[in-house]
Amino acid sequence: MTTISKALQAVQARIQRAATQCARSPESIALIAVSKTVSADALRIAYACGQRAFGESYVQEALPKIAALQDLAIEWHFIGPLQSNKTKLVAQNFAWVHSVERAKIAQRLSEQRPEGLPPLNVCLQVNVSGEASKSGAAPAEVVALAQAVATLPKIKLRGLMAIPQATDDVSKQRAQLRLLRDLRDQLNAQGLALDTLSMGMSDDLEVAIAEGATLVRVGSAIFGEREKA
Ligand SMILES: *Cc1c(COP(=O)(O)O)cnc(C)c1O
Repeated sequence: MTTISKALQAVQARIQRAATQCARSPESIALIAVSKTVSADALRIAYACGQRAFGESYVQEALPKIAALQDLAIEWHFIGPLQSNKTKLVAQNFAWVHSVERAKIAQRLSEQRPEGLPPLNVCLQVNVSGEASKSGAAPAEVVALAQAVATLPKIKLRGLMAIPQATDDVSKQRAQLRLLRDLRDQLNAQGLALDTLSMGMSDDLEVAIAEGATLVRVGSAIFGEREKA
């Protein structure tokens, strides 16, 4: 068995265990394999092991891979920072975007989504740690942002995404993950029907699942450590 296939099985086992421990169904948690810096050949191996959803952070890196893997039924997720000048390529090439933090970006994505494709699935990224360096809308802005995005014709607002602070303090991490869940609950209480909490990565997927993650984004635990940029 390849390293990737073993690593994928190990991650799936972690998801199963974490779900069972909090009495959730493992099927309620989707695994996105984060493939930034990973070659198209390695993605093919993961695909052959049954993985279908892949996450990319950089448009310029993703496009050649998407082109090289067009023969596969991959669901592509865009999870990186998104500038206005890249929205068209994202609207044309991805099924999901997790990193919308401004209404203007969502509006462009909606306008640029090709007619023949289903609506683009969108999560709003929230800055749950309050760190100035972090992307995402401030929690206080999320209700207004969600209401604006939910009206766009070629967007399907699915939920919220966050990257909690990298810290060994699990209680702090937990509080940030819980904030995202509370925001989602608040939006649903106001009449939205959000089914997605995109949170949890290689190091914190268990805590994220305990706090309600429905979609975990896992890179290095599947493909190995990335070179630091
Ligand atoms: C890189 C990345 C991940 C995966 O991180 P790992 O620690 O490698 O699992 C998840 N989400 C986002 C937004 C990323 O940029």
